[in-house]
Amino acid sequence: MFQDVFVPDANVLPNGKGLKAPLGCLTQARFGIAFGVVGAAMACFETATEYAKRRIMFGKPIGSYQLVQEQLAWMLTEIVKAQLLSIQCGRMKEAGTCGPEQVSMAKRNNCEIALEIARRARDILGANGITSEYPVMRHMCNLESVKTYEGTHNIHTLVLGEAITGLAAYR
Ligand SMILES: Cc1cc2nc3c(=O)[nH]c(=O)nc-3n(C[C@H](O)[C@H](O)[C@H](O)COP(=O)(O)OP(=O)(O)OC[C@H]3O[C@@H](n4cnc5c(N)ncnc54)[C@H](O)[C@@H]3O)c2cc1C
Repeated sequence: MFQDVFVPDANVLPNGKGLKAPLGCLTQARFGIAFGVVGAAMACFETATEYAKRRIMFGKPIGSYQLVQEQLAWMLTEIVKAQLLSIQCGRMKEAGTCGPEQVSMAKRNNCEIALEIARRARDILGANGITSEYPVMRHMCNLESVKTYEGTHNIHTLVLGEAITGLAAYR
């Protein structure tokens, strides 16, 4: 069925056979996405941190309140965990041991935490968070798209579920 739709041209993908080559390109793209969304998360975290140090409410910077600090501590921890996941994928890639399942884990996790970091950063910025004066809402909208393209969050969950159990749950 797929051959009717798309047959890789030998000049485009010289070593490719069937759909394996184009699907392999998607794995490479997802690997890049896993790194890229961490950058968006870092921008949101840095924006929220700077804002929290400057925004005065009830006579003090909001960054001095424990609830805001808990948000920032959570964000930074998730960013570092996502960076480590991406770096480990990179190391496995260099060693030739990084398969699509590892990339699924990184893409799934990093998109999820980046989106949650964008949402929490938006919250720290209050109403200013929805304005284009700050980059948070832009990143959040982009991340909503990235959660869906290059394999949705749910589908990467099923990829991992199959890798773990040997049982496919797609249908
Ligand atoms: C900005 C953007 C750019 C894109 N660029 C490209 C591109 O360049 N090339 C390309 O080919 N496509 C592209 N897409 C399309 C993207 O790959 C699809 O939107 C995505 O695969 C989801 O397909 P769908 O929209 O048909 O949603 P559906 O498949 O209808 O999914 C809807 C929801 O149901 C869930 N779902 C579906 N099946 C299951 C299941 N078995 N179990 C559990 N949950 C399930 C999904 O996870 C999702 O949450 C792009 C999308 C966006 C938003």
